Amino acid sequence: MFLKGKRALITGSTSGIGLAIARALHAEGAEVVLNGFGDADEIAALCDELGAKHSGADLTNVGQIEAMMAEHAAVDILVNNAGMQHVSPVEDFPVDKWDKIIALNLTAAFHTSRLAIPHMKQQGWGRIINTASAHSLTASPFKSAYVAAKHGIAGLTKTLALELAQDGVTTNCISPGYVWTPLVENQIPDTMKARGMTREQVMNDVLLAKQPTKKFVQPAELGALAVFLCRDEAQNVNGANWSMDGGWTAE
Ligand code: NAD
Repeated sequence: MFLKGKRALITGSTSGIGLAIARALHAEGAEVVLNGFGDADEIAALCDELGAKHSGADLTNVGQIEAMMAEHAAVDILVNNAGMQHVSPVEDFPVDKWDKIIALNLTAAFHTSRLAIPHMKQQGWGRIINTASAHSLTASPFKSAYVAAKHGIAGLTKTLALELAQDGVTTNCISPGYVWTPLVENQIPDTMKARGMTREQVMNDVLLAKQPTKKFVQPAELGALAVFLCRDEAQNVNGANWSMDGGWTAE
């Protein structure tokens, strides 16, 4: 329970990776603030489970980010995790989707960070953890906005790491490959039908084609990594881009 007395805000934590990170930080005693969309009853149940507060702020909206940060001030651990994807050839890429992905996957982290940093500096302790992606290090076709935003957040991470290096605040990003979240799981039946493949073929030859271990990253593994980055033993892990992608970016 080494995080007792610390407050953690995890964006995009009503499902998937963000929720797993929230659970892992809560298990170490952190007071947790959840953010994200979803069914009101399910979110209320998560708040009960974790003794957490919830902000429904839309992080593509600067005013809503500012209101969230004003309401949940004094954040010691900030996890910028909310993100979205859109797949399209660049010449057809919907302009509003480009703007939204850059706003959510990159610009939101600038705003939450600039608003959280004064308290962290004042305390002389803080942790900023950004969920980037294997796509912060490498590209795939048809994901221009996502790849640009994820490369961007890797650069923002390094810049904050340098600026805050002497303030007791570390900034790192974690870069998963394919993670077993409901988002991925729900694609399998349709892909089996569309391609005439078995479940195993879809998993190995489509989803995990780039992941050498042929295993999905589990959200709880990312939760464990986030916990490690909060430890005193990780005080010199700063500005890192920590891959958890089964070897994808080693190729
Ligand atoms: P998810 O869809 O399960 O969760 C996304 C979360 O973001 C949800 O809580 C959702 O409500 C929230 N959200 C969406 N739009 C929002 C908005 N406008 N404002 C506030 N919250 C919003 O996705 P996930 O798979 O858990 O992904 C989380 C992060 O991990 C993303 O940044 C994603 O790019 C990254 N990532 C995921 C994978 C993967 O394979 N799943 C791989 C690499 C990186």
